[in-house]
Amino acid sequence: MMSLPCVVVLVLAGVGHATSESRRYIDLTHDLDKDAVFWPGVPSLNLTNLQKGRMPGGFWLEYNVFSVGEHGGTHMDAPAHFSENGWHTSDIPLHRLMGPGVVVDISERAKNNPDAQLTVEDLQKWEEMYGKIPSNAWVLLNSGWTKKWKDRAAFFGSDNTEDSSTFHFPSISGDAARWLWENRPYITGVGLDTASIDSGPSREYPAHRALLPNRRIGLENVANLDQLPPAGAMIYAIPLKLKDGTGGPMRLFAVVGDGSSCAAAFRLNLMFVVSLYLAYLFLR
Ligand SMILES: [Zn+2]
Repeated sequence: MMSLPCVVVLVLAGVGHATSESRRYIDLTHDLDKDAVFWPGVPSLNLTNLQKGRMPGGFWLEYNVFSVGEHGGTHMDAPAHFSENGWHTSDIPLHRLMGPGVVVDISERAKNNPDAQLTVEDLQKWEEMYGKIPSNAWVLLNSGWTKKWKDRAAFFGSDNTEDSSTFHFPSISGDAARWLWENRPYITGVGLDTASIDSGPSREYPAHRALLPNRRIGLENVANLDQLPPAGAMIYAIPLKLKDGTGGPMRLFAVVGDGSSCAAAFRLNLMFVVSLYLAYLFLR
């Protein structure tokens, strides 16, 4: 027959397991393939196979060569993209590639207005609901554009996909970008699910210019932002360590439920169970 302490241990272990948050990985990267969206004039992916087949020794060998413009697909804008002495891709310290995700959802507004922008009010509203934007945050705009990815005309909001002055897609307002730098300068950077953090026709690039020269980073053509919680995800933005790069294709992903809460819950339960067992020993 099972002793009382054993029963208590099993029950509490079960409760601990049920309440601990499990870890989920969310890929925020579109496939880099021939259909990936590139800004007009930026060469898209050119992938050429050099070897694919069985070798005389009987083993399989396969490899390619590729070239690709830096600013296409799911990619990073390094500070050097908009600043003479800014960090190039290879200069960005590793701790500036990760941070908590602040996800602002304007997808409802963007349904009726493809030129909808992230505003200062959106950021303040987020803070009212979830607290102050945390240190090293990636501020990410979900406009619902990820669904249009495979349709270049829909993604750019124009039938003339070679003329950016005709583009209509959601972006970050200059005011919101300046507000972030002036009031939350500790953020890592910003990102969004459209082709540019500035609006398509813009030639002033206020969002790029407010952030990149100040060593903040941009993430563009981000995928699956609709799968992230508004707060609580950890974002990892990993570009190639391209010397003198001004950004480039990257693997971007999120981890939701970092496991630390699970470990903490386990430690707490363990302490509780040990205390109960000691009390039982004393009192029986
Ligand atoms: Zn870019």
